[in-house]
Amino acid sequence: MLKPSDKIIVGVSGGKDSITLLYNLIKIQQKTHGANPPIALSIDEGIANYRKKSIYEAQKFCKKFGIEHHIILFKERVGKSLEDIIDIEKVKENNRYACNYCAIIRRRLLNDCSLELGGTILALGHNLTDFCETFLMNILFKRLHLIARRNPSKKTSSDIKRYYIRKINPLMKIPETEIEKYVNLKNLPFYSSHCPYRTQDPILRKRVLDFILECKKFSPEIEYNLFNGFLELSEILNKEFKSKKLNFCSICGYPTSNESLCNYCNLKQKITI
Ligand code: SF4
Repeated sequence: MLKPSDKIIVGVSGGKDSITLLYNLIKIQQKTHGANPPIALSIDEGIANYRKKSIYEAQKFCKKFGIEHHIILFKERVGKSLEDIIDIEKVKENNRYACNYCAIIRRRLLNDCSLELGGTILALGHNLTDFCETFLMNILFKRLHLIARRNPSKKTSSDIKRYYIRKINPLMKIPETEIEKYVNLKNLPFYSSHCPYRTQDPILRKRVLDFILECKKFSPEIEYNLFNGFLELSEILNKEFKSKKLNFCSICGYPTSNESLCNYCNLKQKITI
């Protein structure tokens, strides 16, 4: 996944997955002649009573290992925190949930800020369980284009490369339960609470996770089956979607499957009042 010359930006929330990832990338860099040290990047959505605490753990960790750490705020980049956005949308009685807004903005900020920092790779801490959860969610909502897009071996077109940094998910074959054991064995400090919106919102994601964990009790291999299913299906779907023409957002110029505005600019317009 990596070359010594790569400048790796690591998305670090302060939770167990991103801390495990950063710790291992530091170890790899220390053993690799001429490798650049990774740079940590945290996104602060402005989630009350949660994000500041998790970023504090990330800060402590980076300080201990002498890692450059950047913190980017939603408020700075889109003018509003996630809490502000939710308030506005509640007033408008819009039916979307916190995670929808959060994911669109966070993905774009991670990408843009990594490029601004001169990164060549963005490493994210999604584990096997996260992949399975997202795969099942995409099946349930028939988001086939998203399954195609996540195919890890897909060739990226020059149009996409111009705007998006290459992303890697080195923990994608490791179940969450094993990462939990790993951080405890290594005695790595991390922030253990979850985002309050994960359970507060009436979203399916948490229920899908509970379903996977329940199935795992009877079929321990279930996550690997789902993951292998994802790899095969995403390969087939990627061929299908590759031929579809991309449009370009009329505001930011990024490639989009929408008609005129990308999801990020669309959302930014809506929350600007
Ligand atoms: S659970 Fe939802 S709101 Fe919380 S950090 Fe994740 S995507 Fe954002």
